[in-house]
Amino acid sequence: MQPAVPIDVDETNGIWRTDGLPMVYLPRHFLVNNHLAVEAVLGRDAYRATLRIATAKSAIEWCEAQAQGKGFDPEATFRHYFQRLSQRGWGQFSIDVLDVAGRRGSISLRNSIFALEAGQGAGQRVCYMFEGFVTGAFSFLLGLAAASEVECEETYCACDGRHDHCRFDFAARP
Ligand SMILES: [Zn+2]
Repeated sequence: MQPAVPIDVDETNGIWRTDGLPMVYLPRHFLVNNHLAVEAVLGRDAYRATLRIATAKSAIEWCEAQAQGKGFDPEATFRHYFQRLSQRGWGQFSIDVLDVAGRRGSISLRNSIFALEAGQGAGQRVCYMFEGFVTGAFSFLLGLAAASEVECEETYCACDGRHDHCRFDFAARP
């Protein structure tokens, strides 16, 4: 099976693009090794907080560009975001609950890159990088001023020895 995302390679400079956005194609272990190295230096709590801000910013920028470029409404953009992440190999996201009026939802994730690299360990949850993806995309959907108005947690993880997928629950603060 070939990638479901369009990939355009500029033959003059070698830059890859999908939907007009410059992309980098890299080995999964490279990404996860870098991730774990930074976590080891900063400690998980500090790294998680920093990562949440950075990834939420990127999610919002992505959603804004896609909404403008493709004319999607906010909810369609939110759904497209998780579809594109799935098509780009991060794992297979599915939006199980999206309660816009109630400002909350739930997403499950199968074959997360972080869980696949981590292996099994009792109670572990390793996919916290995606929490900022969710807070950014959901704050975009709701038109909130800041992604920090959304809470998200990986409730359980496919590498915890008890589940076959990861789950993220999220809600905007009242
Ligand atoms: Zn996980």
